[in-house]
Amino acid sequence: MIKTISYLGLGTMGSGMASNLLIAGYKLTVWNRSAEKCEAFASKGARVADTPADAVRDTELVMYCLSNEEAVEEVVFGAKGILAGIKEGQIAIDMSTVLPATSLREQEAYAKRGVDFLDVPVFGSKQESADAKLWIMAAGNKAVFENVKPVLEHLGQTIHYFGKNGNAAAMKLVGNLIVALELEALAEGLVLAQKAGLDLNTVMEVVKVADFRSALLVSNGQNILKRDFSPSFALKLMLKDASLIEKFSETMESPIPALRVVEKNLASAVGLGFGNENASALIKALEKEAGIEVKALNR
Ligand code: NAP
Repeated sequence: MIKTISYLGLGTMGSGMASNLLIAGYKLTVWNRSAEKCEAFASKGARVADTPADAVRDTELVMYCLSNEEAVEEVVFGAKGILAGIKEGQIAIDMSTVLPATSLREQEAYAKRGVDFLDVPVFGSKQESADAKLWIMAAGNKAVFENVKPVLEHLGQTIHYFGKNGNAAAMKLVGNLIVALELEALAEGLVLAQKAGLDLNTVMEVVKVADFRSALLVSNGQNILKRDFSPSFALKLMLKDASLIEKFSETMESPIPALRVVEKNLASAVGLGFGNENASALIKALEKEAGIEVKALNR
């Protein structure tokens, strides 16, 4: 049974997961590029490491959740990266949203050191991470998956196994293709509703109950009406994912006409300076074009 864990990358998602591992009683080592994010964990008994290579010393399981491909490159493959410190018999799991090809590259590099690797991306956002309610996907060797499953059960409400390495990363991109299109649909719909003079609170009441309802539409729609764009999933990360989906779809020769439109709108909203706001700030690109601001009338 796994008792010792290293967690690297204490951002929006990683900090919630690492906190839940401490609550579950695991002996935890943490590392984050900006060291101040480690302080809260040190005060709860975690060991704080100086480098990724140092962070993976003496633990059974190494977990990380990093922004993008560049961050994985640095933290895993860099001079003081995980691969410089990890040893035979340890297990590594990458929870970042990256290309399936990146997961496969990680798996090969770890295998050369006798280390097992799973790609384990997640659905859910800041709140689900903090509440251990993530929707988790995992891929790689089945026996290794069974070994780490009890750990993942402390982080999420569902865990789906996807077979060979890279498949969970692929599923994450499939899901985020749907997320991107839902956000675009919501934004276009709310702008049109405002232009048509509809009461937006009533619009959202319908979105909440109709057969096209979804938790994502409801939470983002309500926050847009409140003009609350505080980041749970940053707009710049949604744009990053759109570009990963584009690359992956091209490799698979699978058409993504709508995603290409969304990617353009995401890039416009980031260009307007909203990259660090929530992904729902995508609507701001459409609002600029429409010459309006979507806002509910107070009742
Ligand atoms: P975040 O809050 O921006 O955190 C990103 C983490 O990566 C931070 O720990 C950051 O360190 C680190 N990092 C970035 N560049 C780095 C580099 N070059 N070297 C070392 N560390 C680096 O992002 P997040 O929302 O937690 O997302 C993390 C991953 O999960 C992303 O792949 C994202 O697409 C995915 N994801 C996010 C959500 C969500 O709703 N937020 C949901 C599912 C999946 P610093 O603290 O030093 O910046």
